[in-house]
Amino acid sequence: MNDEMLDYLLATDSMDEFLGDKSRCPHCGNKLINIVYGMPTWKVGEKAKKGEIFLGGCTIYEGEMPKYHCNNCRRSYTKDLKRYIEEENNFEDEEEEY
Ligand SMILES: [Zn+2]
Repeated sequence: MNDEMLDYLLATDSMDEFLGDKSRCPHCGNKLINIVYGMPTWKVGEKAKKGEIFLGGCTIYEGEMPKYHCNNCRRSYTKDLKRYIEEENNFEDEEEEY
C-alpha cells in the first residue's frame, strides 16, 4: 500500500472496510490496527494519537515486518497473524517527536 492509498483510506474513514472483519487479535479478539512505518504525515499522526493506527517508526525487525497492531495486548502481528512481537512502548511516549 502506498502513501496516497493510505491517505485516501484514512481521509475517507474507509479503513474499517479495507481491513474487514478478519483483522482481529488472535489473542484477545480486539480489532487490529495497521502499522505505519517511516515518517507519518500529519493526518497519519492524528490517527495514531487516537489509536486508530500504530506508528512503527524506523524500527528494524528480524524477519518479516509486522503489519497489524493490537492496542489491547500491545502486540504487533505479521500479516498472516501467526507471529507477533511484544511492543515495549506504545505511541504515547513518542508522539512528541512528531
Ligand atoms: Zn490483543
